[in-house]
Amino acid sequence: MRKITLSNGKTVEVECLSCALTSGLLEPDGGVIFETEHFHAHQDVAYPIEGLVILASKRHIKCLDELTDEERLDYINTLTKIRKAQREILGIDYVYYFYNEDTTHHFHTWLVPRYKWMNEFGKSVESVRPVLLNARNQRNTNENHQKVMSAIEALKNGLI
Ligand SMILES: [Zn+2]
Repeated sequence: MRKITLSNGKTVEVECLSCALTSGLLEPDGGVIFETEHFHAHQDVAYPIEGLVILASKRHIKCLDELTDEERLDYINTLTKIRKAQREILGIDYVYYFYNEDTTHHFHTWLVPRYKWMNEFGKSVESVRPVLLNARNQRNTNENHQKVMSAIEALKNGLI
């Protein structure tokens, strides 16, 4: 078991945070954005970036090549659907995607929207971590939190 401190300050002990979230044991702040048979989309509100969505598999696997044919199809279709909603509902022109396989959580992909303020951290993959840290440490205001929650609601409504 691992102890994880959530964005609301609560501490939980879970084997795998992704399992806890996708099974409904833990309710992500803002709730479930979208769910399919094999995948679960939510936002990590610890990073107050509008439209930052995390898409996690429901099955406890680590690597892309562990997806079954059916899961793979569901994955790309769901990823595309969320991407389209980010564009049409939130006006997001570009998204950076990343996932790493050597994580303590299971398979999940981050869809990180690009906003103008992020350009000061450069472009390309090396800018992603500084952007996330800046969001968490400098942009964690009530105002931003409200914007994030509104974006979650808008995505939810658009993805029904
Ligand atoms: Zn898991």
